[in-house]
Amino acid sequence: MSSERPERAAPDYRAIARESARREGAAIAIASAEPETATRQRMAAAFAGGSFTAWRYDDAYAAAASDPATILAGARAVVCVAVPFAHAPPAGRAPLRGRVSNYAWSADYHVRMREILAGIARALDRAAGAPVTRIACDTAPLAERAFAARAGLGWVGKHTNVISPEFGSFVFLGEIVTTLDIPPDAPLKKTCGACTRCVGACPTGALRGDYTIDARRCISDLTQRTDAIPRELRAFVGDWVWGCDLCQLVCPPTQRASPRADAAFGPGSSAAAFPALLDLLGLRNSEFKRRYRRTALGWRGATVLRRNAAVALGNALDRASVPALERALESDPAPLVRAHIAWALGRIGSPRAFAALLGALPGESDPAVREEIEAAVRSLETFDGSGALGCRRTRSE
Ligand code: SF4
Ligand code: SF4
Repeated sequence: MSSERPERAAPDYRAIARESARREGAAIAIASAEPETATRQRMAAAFAGGSFTAWRYDDAYAAAASDPATILAGARAVVCVAVPFAHAPPAGRAPLRGRVSNYAWSADYHVRMREILAGIARALDRAAGAPVTRIACDTAPLAERAFAARAGLGWVGKHTNVISPEFGSFVFLGEIVTTLDIPPDAPLKKTCGACTRCVGACPTGALRGDYTIDARRCISDLTQRTDAIPRELRAFVGDWVWGCDLCQLVCPPTQRASPRADAAFGPGSSAAAFPALLDLLGLRNSEFKRRYRRTALGWRGATVLRRNAAVALGNALDRASVPALERALESDPAPLVRAHIAWALGRIGSPRAFAALLGALPGESDPAVREEIEAAVRSLETFDGSGALGCRRTRSE
C-alpha cells in the first residue's frame, strides 16, 4: 500500500466567487486577464478624437486600463462583479426640484461595493491559502465594461453601459483581479439588434448609435465637469443636477429586469433624488460637506452643484426663482456660478430677470461673467413695434 497522500483537487474558485456574490445579491463572471488590446485602441482613438476632453484621459491611461497586470502583477483572471442599484423614485415631487441620477441617491456606493468585493476576494484568498487578489472599484484605471463584456457578465449597449440579462443596466461594476488560474466564461452572443431607443431618447445627441458616445455632449459628464457648460447645451440639461438616466430608463432589457437592489443604495430622503433647486443655489462648502461628503456627489464640491442648480432653474422657466437668482448674481463668490445664473435669467426672460441682468452689469468685474450677462441681455433685446420688451413665456413671477 502506497504511503503517498492522494492529491487534493483544486478548489472550484468560480463556484466560491459565485456563492459569495450571490449572498450579496450580486452576479459574477470570469474574464481572462489578457490585456484588452482592441479596447486600448478604441479608447486611445476616442481620446484623440476629443470625445472625452473634459476628463484629461491619455494613451497612458488607455494602456493601464486595458491591462489588469497594472493592478496586480501576474494577474491571470478578472472576476467581474455586477451589483444592481436601481430603486424606484420617491413619490411626491414638488416644483423647482432638480434631479439626481439613481446611482448617486445613496451614501457613497463605493463603500458598499468595496465591502462586497472584499468579501468575494477574502473567500478566494481563503480557498487559495494565500493572498491572490486585489479589488478594483473606480480606485484604479480598468476598462471594466470591456472586461465585463469579455466575461459574459452582460453586453455593452448602444448607450455604452453594460446590460446584464438578469439586472439590466442599472448596475455597479467592480472587479477582483487575481493570480488564480480560473477558466474564463464565454462572452454573450447578444447585441442591441435594431433597437435605437436610447439614441432617440438622448436630448443632446451624445449617443451615435454605433455603441459609442461623445462624452462632451453627455449630461452626465456636463454636470460633473468643473468648467462652464457649453452655452448651446445648457437647455438640453433640463432638470438634471447630477448625472442623467434617460437613455437607461428607456432601455427595454433594463425595463424588463426586476432586480432587488441592496437597501443601502436607496435614497435616504426625497431630496436625495430631487433636491430643492433654490436650496442648492445657496449651498456653501460647510453645508455641502455635511450633506454630500458621503455620497457620490461629494467629490466635485459645492460650486459645481450651484452651477448645475442655476442651469436647472433656467430650464424650469419659473419666474418664482428670479428674486433668488438676482440675489445670487450679486453675491455668489464663484464667477462660474454667476455666469450660469446670468444665462438662467436670460432664459427665464421676464422683465424682472432683464432688470436684474442690467443691474448686475456695472458691478461685475469678471470678464467671463460680463460676457454671459451681455449675451443674456442681447438674447432679450427683442422689441416689438411698440418698443415693449419681448419676454419669454414663463410661469408667473
Ligand atoms: S446619460 Fe443622458 S445625455 Fe448621456 S447619453 Fe444617456 S441620455 Fe444622453
Ligand atoms: S435602448 Fe435599445 S439600443 Fe439602447 S442600449 Fe437598450 S437595447 Fe440597446
